[in-house]
Amino acid sequence: MGFSTDAIHAGQSPDPTTGAVMTPIYMTSTYAQPELGVNKGYSYGRTNNLTREALEKNIASLEKGKYGIAFSSGISAIHSLMGLLKPGDHIIASKYIYGGTYKVFENFMTNFGIEFSWVDMRKIENIESAIKKNTKLVFMETPSNPLLILTDLKIGSEICKKYDLISVADNTFMTPYFQQPIELGVDIVIHSTTKYLNGHSDVIGGIVITNNKEHDKKLRFMQRSIGAVPSPFDCWLTLRATKTLAVRMEQHDINALVIADYLKDKSYIKKIYYPGLPEHPQHVLAKRQMSGFGGIVTADFGDINVVKKLFKNTQIFELAESLGGVESLLNHSATMTHASVPEEERLSMGITDSLVRISVGIEDVEDLINDIDSAIRN
Ligand SMILES: *Cc1c(COP(=O)(O)O)cnc(C)c1O
Repeated sequence: MGFSTDAIHAGQSPDPTTGAVMTPIYMTSTYAQPELGVNKGYSYGRTNNLTREALEKNIASLEKGKYGIAFSSGISAIHSLMGLLKPGDHIIASKYIYGGTYKVFENFMTNFGIEFSWVDMRKIENIESAIKKNTKLVFMETPSNPLLILTDLKIGSEICKKYDLISVADNTFMTPYFQQPIELGVDIVIHSTTKYLNGHSDVIGGIVITNNKEHDKKLRFMQRSIGAVPSPFDCWLTLRATKTLAVRMEQHDINALVIADYLKDKSYIKKIYYPGLPEHPQHVLAKRQMSGFGGIVTADFGDINVVKKLFKNTQIFELAESLGGVESLLNHSATMTHASVPEEERLSMGITDSLVRISVGIEDVEDLINDIDSAIRN
């Protein structure tokens, strides 16, 4: 089936009781057992919920994976990966990564004897050089938050196969509509469904997808035993949202390219980051492994006063955490998403105080351009 057909139908069929075409929200913490040792496959809400199962099957199918395991946030999905490891194991993770992932790995999992190497994966050979005897997993995020730095998923996953390492990709920025890591050879895909998959900025959620039965078993154990499960209502909202993923992503992509192209030559811009621009240093890789470039444009205005003006004066763009919703948002990476990264390290990455991550929504793009322009000129 095509992407949108799966997005609308996969994991869902009319409810057997009433024929309801839309998957009901099964708001129940427990299930009646007709006699001792007999149930209908459902025992307790943390363990199983039909609305959650529909969401898991739906997104797994879009990512070309057999198994989906849903969590109550992207970060809890990432944390569940720890169920695949033991103390003494080593993870190679992308140096250019979401700040919250860095925080849970470096500031928390190190207490449990997991070691990390932070690697610049623009040079994919750096993964191979960082491999140690105890390396078990390679965590890639592409494009990265907020600098849109790419990792070659095909070569990255080939290196992992060669050394028998688990390859993981955080596909939050592209979604399966624009990038399918499993098809490129990656073992496990992670999402913050909070972002584009839900796309309406009203749910916090995460999901892990894999084709590997052993990984599914361990990750599902983490889901059920640690219990960071999404509510049935949140699952239903996200399931509702994936139906329009294709049309939303198309429009995000169109609007973001128009904005990136407009901003790149403006006198008030020092540097623009967007993988869809031919000037992007990894544009060729972007075209090879992605079928679109997404809705995030990052801009360095070179002057914190210009940035302050922008944050204060825009009428449509709001200054806020998060991204991927239908509405446009601005984010100050240095003090928001990457506040937990030490200053020196942050600056060495290029996350300056005048850097702004623009989550381009699907409003009329002329209005968005006018909003930025007049905010700065006022
Ligand atoms: C937001 C985000 C996360 C964390 O997800 P939450 O739903 O906020 O817990 C992980 N990775 C990326 C790339 C993100 O943007």
